Amino acid sequence: MARYTSGSGRQMEAEQYERYSRQILFAPLGEEGQKRLLESRAVVVGCGALGTVLAGLLVRAGVGRLRVVDRDFVELSNLQRQTLFEEADARDALPKAVAAERRLRAMNSGVEVEGVVADVTPENIGELAAGFAVILDGTDNFETRMLLNDFAVSAGVPWIYAAAVGSYGVTFTVRPGETACLACLVESVGNGNAATAGLAAEETCDTAGVLNTAAGVIGALEAAEAVKLLSGHAEALAGRLVSCDVWKGRFQSVRVEREPGCRACGRRDFRWLEGAAQPQVTMCGRDSVQIHERRRRLDLEELARRLGSVASGVRTNGFLLRFAAGGCEVTVFADGRAVFKGTKDAAVARSLYARYIGA
Ligand SMILES: [Zn+2]
Repeated sequence: MARYTSGSGRQMEAEQYERYSRQILFAPLGEEGQKRLLESRAVVVGCGALGTVLAGLLVRAGVGRLRVVDRDFVELSNLQRQTLFEEADARDALPKAVAAERRLRAMNSGVEVEGVVADVTPENIGELAAGFAVILDGTDNFETRMLLNDFAVSAGVPWIYAAAVGSYGVTFTVRPGETACLACLVESVGNGNAATAGLAAEETCDTAGVLNTAAGVIGALEAAEAVKLLSGHAEALAGRLVSCDVWKGRFQSVRVEREPGCRACGRRDFRWLEGAAQPQVTMCGRDSVQIHERRRRLDLEELARRLGSVASGVRTNGFLLRFAAGGCEVTVFADGRAVFKGTKDAAVARSLYARYIGA
């Protein structure tokens, strides 16, 4: 097979050259940038609207290795915006990480894709996110973003914050030591940064909805920033907080200053990484409560047998187990997590957890 060589001595196969020819032709990236991209490693945390757009673009662009971490399973209401999933994935309630890995491998067999079904916690983030050149935010909640921020700042690894709700979204690339971090942005009162961050903490896609186009634009901007970082073009990074509203047709980019007294990048107080700040129970969606149980492995087949006589609709697909009890639809994962759909009451969820899954 023909090979193309360049100054660096690294070689690219003819087929790779053909596959990536249109972005190699883009002069600022070029062949050198493509080679760096082919050797790069990125991790996407959260594979919803942003994560699927992001992962698809990066795999097509030819990152060397991509890990996708997600804790949820595919539902019908995801298909409107989560571009890697299909109707069959929702029907089979496949974990998003499993469905995404399958689809991404089919897109580009040259990329080492790895889907990991896990809830990112202070205990496992080191294992899940270490060794990657950039950490990409595909999450949908404040807690996990602050955890990513604290981990990235403490480890000196760049990470890209992104969020989209309604018709609006924001993204900001954090480079520890160079730029502001997410804590500079949201924790400092009175510097205007918090307002700039733009998204009210309580607003979620489950309450305010989200347009697939808003997630698409923000996911694409995030992917563009990742490509610049991974191809060795840090000088091209936006360096600003970019926001857009696809309904109003408005784009904005603003400078964000580092806060000298910032908890994370200033004082190096990493309380989210130390696990001091996370709740054990979180609301997820309109009418769901999630209980995070840590360091616990459940044998789902065994649990299914146990529940067979006491709960209704018990079924498992090997990745998760579902049953109905106490007016809730309960989904249990092998790592001990459980989502209780049909209640907003943490106490109800805790009680059902204790009764059916066990303390
Ligand atoms: Zn900071």
